[in-house]
Amino acid sequence: MFPLPDPMRLALDAARQAGQAGEVPVGAVVMRQGEVIATGANAPRRLHDPTAHAEIQAIRAAAARLGRDRLEDCDLWVTLEPCAMCAGAIAHARIARLYYAASDPKGGAVEHGPRFFAQPTCHHRPDIYSGMGEGEAAGLLRDFFTARR
Ligand SMILES: [Zn+2]
Repeated sequence: MFPLPDPMRLALDAARQAGQAGEVPVGAVVMRQGEVIATGANAPRRLHDPTAHAEIQAIRAAAARLGRDRLEDCDLWVTLEPCAMCAGAIAHARIARLYYAASDPKGGAVEHGPRFFAQPTCHHRPDIYSGMGEGEAAGLLRDFFTARR
């Protein structure tokens, strides 16, 4: 096994932090030209905000930091296959590349369910790479849900 790229390591760290805060452990990082622009941790319970998924948190913070709504020169790294809401946000933000670790047959919208980026009504499709860090990301989720039972 070769080491994971740093952005996925950071996303996994953010996922771990979310889990420690009692949230479903999902983390995301926005990168631009090798630089970390923003990180996001899943936080809907803590923030009383159903839209506070890791991807949304990271995209909002990155857009605020760069002072614009389009992130066409940025990549998003996330530990879980994005849901329909986050896939929509990724398209609106014009994210260049999407990297996600674990796939999500129940809530994912990239390779499952609505397959958002494959729809004719989707006006921006990032390059998509999946599977890096899959074992670790899925392990965090499994441990989290096992502990809750
Ligand atoms: Zn989402």
